[in-house]
Amino acid sequence: MPELPEIEHLRRSLESSLVGAKVRRAVAHRRDVIRLGRPFPNKGSKGPGRAPAMGTALLRGDRIDRLERRGKQLAIIGRSAGVICVHLGMSGQLRLVGPRTRVEPNTHIHVRWWLEGKDGREGQLVFRDPRRFGGIWTFPDQAVLDEKRWSRLGPDALTIRRAEVANALRRTSRPLKTALLDQSLIAGLGNIYVDEILFRSGLHPQRRANRVSDDQLGPLHRSIRRILGEAIEAGGSTLRDYADSRGRPGRYTARHLVYGRAGLPCRNCRTSLEQLRIAQRTTVVCPRCQPI
Ligand SMILES: [Zn+2]
Repeated sequence: MPELPEIEHLRRSLESSLVGAKVRRAVAHRRDVIRLGRPFPNKGSKGPGRAPAMGTALLRGDRIDRLERRGKQLAIIGRSAGVICVHLGMSGQLRLVGPRTRVEPNTHIHVRWWLEGKDGREGQLVFRDPRRFGGIWTFPDQAVLDEKRWSRLGPDALTIRRAEVANALRRTSRPLKTALLDQSLIAGLGNIYVDEILFRSGLHPQRRANRVSDDQLGPLHRSIRRILGEAIEAGGSTLRDYADSRGRPGRYTARHLVYGRAGLPCRNCRTSLEQLRIAQRTTVVCPRCQPI
């Protein structure tokens, strides 16, 4: 599942083509991947309001102002007509393709936008998602997106401060791994990067979160920032489906020190890496480098 580095790399790889582009047309081939989270008020009558037309909700006629990310979610923000929030789930992708690329059967392309870039160049942005755990949410503006979705997320892991890490962990006695996966405490980390971060900071994933000492907090905070930064530079990790806007897989997979390496020797001390199960997630640790 794409985590913060994949979504941030994707955001950067889309930015030059999308920002300033005009959305000429938008089509949903599968409407059930879209949640219209932006009712329009009913004129002259009370009631819940009416959902906007699909094309309008998907920014048709608008110009793209900016792309923002919070945790594992990406928002495409229009200058006037609204906001689209994309969650890639397990297998979602946002890809840039040529303006006349057709949708072939079984390519799992669910939504398409026809764009005219700042330089007049035309192209399409497509959302494909074979397993359909992802989706698109539409909102009238960023304030509503914040209220409905992003306010539930903790501080973003890429820019989190040491005091914020301390504050998040102090609030729970759950295992450290479980706490770091909780998006409401810290936003953006998933199974891959939590294992890598805990190994790099020498912390055992089953240690209670509120028992992380002040001395351990510094290495943990530095590992979060450093590993995410390195992974973004390398284009993220690809386990199955992740690819950036040009279809390129992430190159960070080859640099994993523990994730996916159970039974192999630790790169630090040569001890055989162990596999555990924490919060229903496969977890890999070095029993020597990460004492409990
Ligand atoms: Zn080791």
